[in-house]
Amino acid sequence: KRITTRHAKSDVERAYKFGQELGTGNFAVVRLAEHRGTKQKYACKIINKALCAGKEDMIETEISVLKKVKHKYIVGMHECFDTPDKLYLVLDYVSGGELFDRIVDEGNFTEADASRITKQMTEAIQYLHEQGIVHRDLKPENLLFRDRSPNSDILVTDFGLAKLLNDNVVLKTACGTPNYVSPEILMQRGYGKQVDVWSLGVILFILLCGYPPFYDESDAVLFELIMKGRFDFDERYWKDISKEAKHLISNMLVVDPIKRYDTCQVLQHPWITGKAHIPTVNL
Ligand code: ADP
Ligand code: MG
Repeated sequence: KRITTRHAKSDVERAYKFGQELGTGNFAVVRLAEHRGTKQKYACKIINKALCAGKEDMIETEISVLKKVKHKYIVGMHECFDTPDKLYLVLDYVSGGELFDRIVDEGNFTEADASRITKQMTEAIQYLHEQGIVHRDLKPENLLFRDRSPNSDILVTDFGLAKLLNDNVVLKTACGTPNYVSPEILMQRGYGKQVDVWSLGVILFILLCGYPPFYDESDAVLFELIMKGRFDFDERYWKDISKEAKHLISNMLVVDPIKRYDTCQVLQHPWITGKAHIPTVNL
């Protein structure tokens, strides 16, 4: 049995009623889609196949992997339609919005919230790593809240296929600010699952202070900062943040991927397990 069977556009439209646009990324448009039979709501990710030219076999393999992914902090895939010019991925619909927007709205998070979110993201990434999947594109746009409540769970999305598509656009600035990219990617050293821990470290830093650890107007300078792993905890913004939080970040933003914490070490860190004193309010 083929993993992705060939479909016509009419097959998708016969099965789902399309609604509002939920978001866009570099490669896809995501629209609300209601199953005509069950009335269940999904998020349908529509990918232009022109972007995947020459990688059809890899995409088929990737989709078979994605279909098996099941984890409470990962957006699941329900089914997939492979039409001549587009791929339609039918995903669980989550309504809480992007972590990106919550950072923009709220500035930063309490340590308790940041710890809980980091734990959930890391558990999801650890699971993906166990399945042989490296996310490679972890950033707040690809982390979605399940619902609108302040203590909503977070879910990881946009993995697997992203890397196939990304390879076609390797690090072109067109693919977004490279704020979350690890040094070994920039140095083109060949990279594995450790790249995800770097990105998680960047996200955790932002959760606690509201601005990124590496930033410069010029991409060349930014790349330089990342490759040297040069960042600091500016006293003006970090003086009230626990030393345990800083200790964890310092062990995630390590240039050498071998010395960098892996997901197990992150999950065992006192700031994540709750063994450290974690402030619940912003001071
Ligand atoms: P791309 O590969 O183009 O970056 P994404 O999978 O990141 O596509 O989706 C783009 C945007 O669509 C996300 O940033 C998010 O705002 C929205 N989105 C994606 N998946 C879902 C979903 N399952 N439920 C609700 N919104 C979603
Ligand atoms: Mg995305």
